[in-house]
Amino acid sequence: MEMRAGKRFFTASDEEIMSGRTTDVYFVRTLEVLRAKGLADKVALAEMTVAKLPREWPWAVLTGVEETLRLMEGKDVDIWGLPEGTIFPSRTQSGVKLPVMTIEGPYTEYCVFETPILGFMCHSTGVATMAARCRAAAGDRPMIAFGIRRTHPAISPMLDRSSFIGGCDAVSSLLGAETIGRPPEGTMPHALIIMMGDSIEAFKAFDDVIDPSVPRIVLVDTYSDEKTEAIAACRAVKGLAGVRLDTPGSRRGSFTELIREVRWELDLRGFENVRIFVSGGLDEKTIPPLAEAGADGFGVGTSISNAPTVDFALDIVDIENVPVAKRGKFGGRKYLFRCPECFSYEVAVRSNDAPLCARCGRPMGSAFTKLMERGRRLVPQRPAAEIRDEVLQQLKRMEGP
Ligand SMILES: [Zn+2]
Repeated sequence: MEMRAGKRFFTASDEEIMSGRTTDVYFVRTLEVLRAKGLADKVALAEMTVAKLPREWPWAVLTGVEETLRLMEGKDVDIWGLPEGTIFPSRTQSGVKLPVMTIEGPYTEYCVFETPILGFMCHSTGVATMAARCRAAAGDRPMIAFGIRRTHPAISPMLDRSSFIGGCDAVSSLLGAETIGRPPEGTMPHALIIMMGDSIEAFKAFDDVIDPSVPRIVLVDTYSDEKTEAIAACRAVKGLAGVRLDTPGSRRGSFTELIREVRWELDLRGFENVRIFVSGGLDEKTIPPLAEAGADGFGVGTSISNAPTVDFALDIVDIENVPVAKRGKFGGRKYLFRCPECFSYEVAVRSNDAPLCARCGRPMGSAFTKLMERGRRLVPQRPAAEIRDEVLQQLKRMEGP
């Protein structure tokens, strides 16, 4: 088995990504040709666009900008773009592919970094968007990201951060939680109940051992009926915060009816304050009926961590102030504007051509921020919670997921 020095797992180190080792070889060959032919200083402007979002999504939540800036720091490039956490459609009102970012500088400065930049942007934008779609479906109910077990552990901080920025309230992994500056959250696994041999014994043991600051939320589907275990749990654990139903698909019948029944029986016995949390195969389509049935909170896993990637492309559209473009792309430097009211976008080819919004008639404002100048970042790193707040503000203006 091949093993790279100093590496145990099949992952790239920060240094390997920074030195271009995760690029596609054709960029390395392009670099070689341009240098050999004396074109190393030729300045190119490349823009990042996506022709179509996955699954007919009407919008996406842009993430990956922060990692892109960290990668490009110190390189001789200017970067303009939408800030991390911007909700955007794939096209402007008039149907032009919306540039989310532009990179300008000697092409050889960023040629080999096209691959990792797209990787940062495509992957995390998909994850943040799925989280935002689930958030829109869940309303104000708590939603925790549980999905890191479905992906490679090396990227769990990225997944958890993107899930949080998209709208999850908390994340389950220790490292992900550290990345966003929040405590990790979770309930209890079936393993604890099975190891203790009995559900009620496990609930009591958890309550006995675990720090009192941790909410008592117990898993009530391991060995017997959810209703029976939920009632017994309420009686066994004083101050029980909630019960979690992770009922296996083979036993679900109607999950909504099950939730209604548990809610009824708990209320009947005076346990109105005990909340019902659900998990297992949830997404933006399955959450609303469960919420309607009385689910108070959600653990969302695979649908977010295994979100479809967003197909961004990076294309050269201008070389030394002369418009160029391959077939299928609109050439030239573009200025991006956004309506402050309805968040529609439009592009113009001159910076002072701010258009009026075709939808609501308001004057549009510049949507691009200068993020980097000659390798020096112009925007500070921002806490994930601050970016998330802005996503939630924008999400309120969107017409549902
Ligand atoms: Zn408008």
